[in-house]
Amino acid sequence: MSDTDALSAALRDGDAAELSDDLDAIREALVEWYRADHRAFPWRRTEDPYAILVSEVMSQQTQLDRVVPAWEDFLEQWPTTADLADADRADVVAFWSSHSLGYNNRATYLHEAAGQIETEYGGSFPETPTELQELMGVGPYTANAVASFAFNNGDAVVDTNVKRVLYRAFAEIRNADDPDYESVANALMPAGESRIWNNAIMELGGVACGKKPRCDEEGCPWREWCHAYQTGDFTAPDVPTQPSFEGSRRQFRGRVVRLLGEHDEMDLDTLGHRIRVDYTPDGEHGREWLRGLLSDLAEDGLLEVEETREKTVVRLRR
Ligand code: SF4
Repeated sequence: MSDTDALSAALRDGDAAELSDDLDAIREALVEWYRADHRAFPWRRTEDPYAILVSEVMSQQTQLDRVVPAWEDFLEQWPTTADLADADRADVVAFWSSHSLGYNNRATYLHEAAGQIETEYGGSFPETPTELQELMGVGPYTANAVASFAFNNGDAVVDTNVKRVLYRAFAEIRNADDPDYESVANALMPAGESRIWNNAIMELGGVACGKKPRCDEEGCPWREWCHAYQTGDFTAPDVPTQPSFEGSRRQFRGRVVRLLGEHDEMDLDTLGHRIRVDYTPDGEHGREWLRGLLSDLAEDGLLEVEETREKTVVRLRR
């Protein structure tokens, strides 16, 4: 069994010692993080499969912030599949070109798909990824996205952003010769939650876990478990060399979180000595420096610091 097969099985069955306790927490942390704040793309506020299909097709070659006005104009002009099916194809293609949306054949396919919905499906979209792939120009990725976001009925989405997140978060994926991303992603996704889950993990990859990661700045909910955060190695399949960022502080934060994950609690100086060789309680990199680091992590909700007259004790917040 490969590393990723074992990880998928562990996630599915919840029987890996390291993960079984944490899996629910990993899932909840991501969904909560997404619910608390995310980019407000208008297609995230609808469950209309047609509107979602249009957003997916437009996003294939165009940056998301440029898709927004085009998507709004398109739906104003052709609000339903019936309207689009009735449209003159030349008008749809002209719209595509004038909004710089990439290959015109995507406009042609969309027009064709609207016709299929009207003539073959009686005006209602099919709801499964397999059936959705019967529509013109709709490949496995788009079919799954529409099934997830419109019908909450998809598999885990695996795009470049999601691969980057999984590769950084799980050592098993990083260490595998040929990682099976799909199977890990599907095992990680809570059953029947594809709408929120796929939105959340794609948001994580797009906002926090970009090529240049913003783990602390975006309050990544997986820092406590993330292999890259804890080791300081942020390379990924699409990031072959270590990205440059304000590295050392983040690395020390990662070390604190990793160490506390291995101990129920630690006192301040023991922790200090374990995370840096030049720790001296009253020196430049001593208690004052460490308290600053810990207070940032406490503000982020990752740990708690208990001060008594005798000592200062630190533990992860569970
Ligand atoms: S902690 Fe950083 S590297 Fe790890 S998943 Fe979060 S954003 Fe990505």
